[in-house]
Amino acid sequence: MSGKLLGCFLALGSSLFIFNACNTTASKASALAGLDTIRYDEDLMESPALLMDKLDSLNKGLISFPAVDSLNKITPKQAKQLLKDSIYRELRKKPKHIYLTFDDGPLLGSDAIDSIATQKQVKISAFLIGKHARMSKRLTGFLQRYLDNPLVEAYNHSYTHAHHRYQTFYADSTGAFADFAKAQEDMGLTHKVARLPGRNIWRFDGLKRSDSGNGATTAEMLYNSGYKVFGWDVEWRIDGNTGKSAQSVSDTYRTIRRFLDKNYTLLPNNVVVLMHDDMFNHPKSRAQLRALIDSLKQHPEYHFEFMSAYPKKY
Ligand SMILES: [Zn+2]
Repeated sequence: MSGKLLGCFLALGSSLFIFNACNTTASKASALAGLDTIRYDEDLMESPALLMDKLDSLNKGLISFPAVDSLNKITPKQAKQLLKDSIYRELRKKPKHIYLTFDDGPLLGSDAIDSIATQKQVKISAFLIGKHARMSKRLTGFLQRYLDNPLVEAYNHSYTHAHHRYQTFYADSTGAFADFAKAQEDMGLTHKVARLPGRNIWRFDGLKRSDSGNGATTAEMLYNSGYKVFGWDVEWRIDGNTGKSAQSVSDTYRTIRRFLDKNYTLLPNNVVVLMHDDMFNHPKSRAQLRALIDSLKQHPEYHFEFMSAYPKKY
């Protein structure tokens, strides 16, 4: 993916979503609806008992909610607020899940990213481009390193990266789908997990989130053939040639914490961090990645996960 740093904030009800280049469509969403587990729609609020059943079944009794009795005695609006408060309160006590994702490899940063995953013993997710793996023996070797590392999972980011002409690429969704299929086969990928070049689109477990670009049909085709398609919550950008970043390590660390603490992420307690392989050409940026991981590891409640495990629920 490429795009402006952190895009923009789009307020949706009580929650905030971050999308690349401010171009998301405001689908019916909130941080809680985003759980794909807890939906605060008014229909359900007409029947608090039904809502409670749904909440309990999805959270396996691990999150406590106000009793249905008490909900029946108050207005739907008050009931909604009570439920929301209780869910946020409980979510704050639960483990948090961090997904470090690296797009556009194999490239010259892959070697370092792979080594840092091993050195720091954190799981990372690499969204890879088929044609990059064919560009040189060195890059083919980097792909193999990723495939051999148990702390790395390699996923599909297309074969051609749309030649960076996204509108044209997705206008032919059959061609775009074939491009992903080619990457999957050519790189020998085993996980059916994909991220669309140039788009922040999510399509998994029945949940859909699209930006305003035209990739939704391609995402749907991938989903229908068994892929999970993932976007991201937070993007970190560093100039790979100079190692200079608009956001320092501490800025990025604080952003990740804020997204978790305030439920700004698509799904609560799960934050997907987007980085790009070519950020890590420079030793300075590698040091920043190590420092970011060290900062996050200070929190025993933070766990590093693969995208194939997204989302972690309770
Ligand atoms: Zn990309």
